[in-house]
Amino acid sequence: MKNLTIIGATGSIGTQAISLIRKNRDKYNLAAISAHKSIEKVINIINEFNIKHVAITDRDTFERLKDHCSLKNLKINIYYGVEGLNRICTLEEIDTVLTSVVGMVGLIPTLEAIRAKKDIALANKETLVAAGEIVMREAEKNGVKILPVDSEHSAIFQCLQGNENNKIDKILLTASGGPFRGKKNTDLQSISVEDALKHPKWNMGKKISIDSATLMNKGLEVIEAHWLFNCDYEKIEVVVHPESIIHSMVQYTDGSIIAQLSSADMTLPIQYALNYPNRDASFIKKLNLFDVHTVTFEKPDIGVFKCLKLSIEAGKAGGFYPTVLNAANEAAVDLFLKRKIPFLKIQEIIERSMIDFSFNESMTLESIIKIDKEIKDFIYNNY
Ligand code: NDP
Ligand code: MG
Repeated sequence: MKNLTIIGATGSIGTQAISLIRKNRDKYNLAAISAHKSIEKVINIINEFNIKHVAITDRDTFERLKDHCSLKNLKINIYYGVEGLNRICTLEEIDTVLTSVVGMVGLIPTLEAIRAKKDIALANKETLVAAGEIVMREAEKNGVKILPVDSEHSAIFQCLQGNENNKIDKILLTASGGPFRGKKNTDLQSISVEDALKHPKWNMGKKISIDSATLMNKGLEVIEAHWLFNCDYEKIEVVVHPESIIHSMVQYTDGSIIAQLSSADMTLPIQYALNYPNRDASFIKKLNLFDVHTVTFEKPDIGVFKCLKLSIEAGKAGGFYPTVLNAANEAAVDLFLKRKIPFLKIQEIIERSMIDFSFNESMTLESIIKIDKEIKDFIYNNY
């Protein structure tokens, strides 16, 4: 039996993980969860799984949940804020923490979990983008596994199994191309929030849906792949593959390409991360190749989708550039979702931030948090 904490249990990944746990109650015990504002969902999860440890990061929701639990006479430990996330990520009985919160807020709890020697099933890619060096160093120091949940990274991870002694030529990171594949700059000028949220292949949270529309998601994933697989940026190639059948590939020095294929269902990478190195039977719709007919590949249009280009530049430049890129993107996407800036302004804000800010301090958790805040404050005050 594996004891699990899920931070971000009420989101898209959290919900899919919980439905996996529901079908495998003999294997997984959901011991602790976090949420931000989705109080109804939290109450349902608490009741269904008899959860005893809950962290809530939104103050009002925290108070409401406390009131609800005292009214219903529920004996539950309810913790508040990032401190609360830290508590549920470090509980003695926990084996694995699934990090499915969105954004930089995942960083400190992930590091706390690593220091408490919990394995990490990592969905929260922003953590690795903003602080990959520190997270990977701590994981190595503590002998902790970082198991990718992101479908592409799960695919790469699977393609690497059994090849520890073989050199790779490159990682082929696939991308669906998002809802605006093939569009030109002029087409993107009047994109609405609703248009941008409509992803052709995956049903996801709002922030990652916008990231997929700008191709920033793929840029973040390039940096994520760099840290997870200790791979030079020169050896990571983005391949647009609109059918989303192949979830990524690894090309070895002998010329062989190993790929992972399946239907587009996040349950599979979640399950692989929770169950690694074993493969369990799953409930997902199995891929039937005769339904696929054709698979196609294209180069990404980095002239139009500048966020991808900026991400690769930030990754290669190193230092705090990825931290700045991530912070600027989080703030800009938030402003776009609040209808305060147009779609194309997202990439403009990120580019300006990378040009205007530079930092020379040493790479510590404190400096990363300070820089993240400084960038976000600047953007919220100026746009
Ligand atoms: P969602 O927006 O659906 O869910 C986000 C979760 O984080 C919710 O539980 C939400 O709580 C919580 N949350 C929101 N804001 C805060 C905050 N300020 N502090 C603490 N918790 C907060 O996102 P997704 O599930 O789509 O994505 C989660 C992560 O997984 C992201 O990093 C994303 O990039 C990554 N990922 C997602 C994929 C997907 O298919 N969805 C695929 C690959 C990676 P509440 O609902 O209570 O407000
Ligand atoms: Mg992905």
